[in-house]
Amino acid sequence: METTTLITCNNSVEANLIKGMLENNGIESFLTNENFTNLMPHLNGVLGAGVQVMVDKKDLKMAQELLEAQRNTDETICPDCGSNNITTGLGTNGFKKIITVLISLFAWIPFGNLKRTHYCKDCKTEF
Ligand SMILES: [Zn+2]
Repeated sequence: METTTLITCNNSVEANLIKGMLENNGIESFLTNENFTNLMPHLNGVLGAGVQVMVDKKDLKMAQELLEAQRNTDETICPDCGSNNITTGLGTNGFKKIITVLISLFAWIPFGNLKRTHYCKDCKTEF
């Protein structure tokens, strides 16, 4: 079996969800880097770190289509007004978060998980 990387996830929970979804569709997969990512979550996205979902090369196209289909179904909706006119970003205090990242990079200390913020363009709610 010749394997290839389907997707790199930020955490093992996300990766395991994808693995489960693939299994439900009859596609075998396994995860790599899971332990490393659990031990050092702040290194995610640096030097390609993260949990990789590996699939057989012959299943790659099918797996990508399943991922795409899943992405299209879990569209974000505003909890306040139900609008789907949503943008995703670092939120209104995004500048502060970027400074936090920069400082922690220089000091070589983990900055924890910076959550992405959704912003409703219709009722101006951040969630
Ligand atoms: Zn809204």
